[in-house]
Parts: sequence; C-alpha cells; structure tokens
Amino acid sequence: MILVVEDNPANMKLVRDLLRANGHRVVESTTGEEALDALKFIRPNLILMDIQLPGMDGLEAARRLRDDPATRDIPVVALTAHVMKGDEVRAKMSGCVGYIPKPIDTVEFPRLVAGYLKPGAGTVSQWKAGA
Ligand code: MN
Repeated sequence: MILVVEDNPANMKLVRDLLRANGHRVVESTTGEEALDALKFIRPNLILMDIQLPGMDGLEAARRLRDDPATRDIPVVALTAHVMKGDEVRAKMSGCVGYIPKPIDTVEFPRLVAGYLKPGAGTVSQWKAGA
C-alpha cells in the first residue's frame, strides 16, 4: 500500500493511475495534516509526499513522521517540482529517503517507486543513485 500526499488533482490522478497499473494499492491525502491523521490507522509501505501543500508543507510532514517512533520506519519520498540542489538537501534533511521530480516521467516513475520499495532503499547510496 502506498500513501500519496498531493493537493493537485491532475498530479494525484496521474500518480494513482500509474501506481494502480503497476499493482499497488493507493491511499490518498490532499494535505499533510490529513496524511498524519490517516497514519494513525494505516501502515503504508511507502509515502509519496508532495512538497508544496496547503497548510503544513511536505517537508514539515516528513519531519514529523521521522520524529514519531510509530512512523519513523516508513520511507517517505518527496515529489518535487524543484530539482534544485537546495531542495534535494532539504528533503533529505527532513527525513525523506529520496525524491521524484515533477512533472512525473510516466516511464521512469514505476521504476523509481519499485526501487524505493526495496528493503534498505532508504540509504545515502540510494540518494546518490536515485539523484
Ligand atoms: Mn502541491
């Protein structure tokens, strides 16, 4: 099960369709607050987190997940339209295991997701390889 946190309906639809086409179950949140709430009840294998969200941004949500022992072990991958070096570093510092750039590359996306679902994907080497 993959939790997608994304406020843009078109992006959400694209991500949902791609994940389902690859056999994943998808749970959706449109805000960080909603995602944190949902995580009291569900245990996804991976969280895809848009960075720019209304209210709490994706990096703050990622920090809270990292700081909570109940959610610390769930890998969070940032979805970001900003592929500048600084954003990559900020995402990493917020506890994300990596990032997937937007606009979503429909061919590359399933491959990246599969990589992040592998055991041990949340490592520094994965960051370098995934970048
Ligand atoms: Mn957004």
